[in-house]
Amino acid sequence: MRLEAEGHRILKLNIGNPAIFGFDTPDGMLSELVLNLPRSQGYCDAKGVADAREAVASYYRGCGFPALDIRQIFLGNGVSELVGIALQALLNAGDELLIPAPDFPLWTDTTHLNGACPTHYVCNESANWAPDLADVEAKITPSTRGLVVINPNNPTGAVYDRETLEGLLEIAHRHDLIVFADEIYERIVFDGRQHIPLAALAKDQLVVTFGGLSKAYRAAGLRIGWMVLSGATDRAKDYIDGLSTLAALRLCPNVPGQYAIRAALSGYQSIDDLVAPGGRLCAQRDRAVQWIKQIDGADCVKPQGALYLFLRLDAQRFGILDDERMVLDFLRQEQVLLAQGTAFHWPAPDHVRIIFLPCEEELDEAFSKFARFLETYRQT
Ligand code: PLP
Repeated sequence: MRLEAEGHRILKLNIGNPAIFGFDTPDGMLSELVLNLPRSQGYCDAKGVADAREAVASYYRGCGFPALDIRQIFLGNGVSELVGIALQALLNAGDELLIPAPDFPLWTDTTHLNGACPTHYVCNESANWAPDLADVEAKITPSTRGLVVINPNNPTGAVYDRETLEGLLEIAHRHDLIVFADEIYERIVFDGRQHIPLAALAKDQLVVTFGGLSKAYRAAGLRIGWMVLSGATDRAKDYIDGLSTLAALRLCPNVPGQYAIRAALSGYQSIDDLVAPGGRLCAQRDRAVQWIKQIDGADCVKPQGALYLFLRLDAQRFGILDDERMVLDFLRQEQVLLAQGTAFHWPAPDHVRIIFLPCEEELDEAFSKFARFLETYRQT
């Protein structure tokens, strides 16, 4: 902000906000929003507009979720708000929640805010960033209450295979943990990969699935997300009562954006063209990976989904002891903003996350600056 106030133009490669890079919200969603604006003047049901929740239910029924009705669906002001509600209803001081490392920090921070303890399980870079099932198992204690799975993953871009997902479910089932499946990037997958919704594989266990309009539907500003409870809901009555109370305490989610949900989930999906070979998002992902392969001392696993690249740096070669300082040094020198790996609770100062939402020309500019910066960068 200080650099901007001084008149610098900062290229912000630190937040996955599709619309500001020219990925517009589909017209059909916007027209529903405008058309229904006159109906959006009052509060709606605390869990959200019934028709919008019905649209979410019917979408997930089509994905193979076990029996769903709209009482199991909560709409909210983005997944961010719903994660707050979901964890506040569950966690007490001293409880533990299993969260991936690297993580999307919302999960870790919300756990802390509830006085509970995030326990990070490792995702293995050498195995395409798949969760290390043995590490998940080893970190379970009598205080562990739930397991968070982010798939497709932010920040690694990993898309998990069926075997990994079944392994995670099996561990959660054996230890009676609630599974939180953050699947906001479910439609953003490349190279013909299929995203498998975790809840569709679950047997007799509670899975809470999160999704929303921010990413594939390019409507982050509408602040619309959903939370879907499926599986062993009969054993979670108190938890669901808690969720309902917390949903009612905020009166209701923002109303206008909810009218875009049905249009978003049904019909032609323009995101499919963007992620297909030759599509804009896929081409930008490829361009970013190509750049990284050319930079001495940098490497990355090619992302299979989402909007991010978690780039590994040779910390010894660049003398990096503090990755936040490196990101700030790069920002000051080249006016490009990245996010340091330790912000995602990655334990070593040897990664940065870069979004590949900017057009190829902008990516070329950013990566040539980064390559130039690294040529001489040494932390002392
Ligand atoms: N979950 C993940 C994994 C994300 O990456 C993000 C945003 O970047 C969110 C949730 C938040 O989404 P929303 O805009 O719906 O609050």
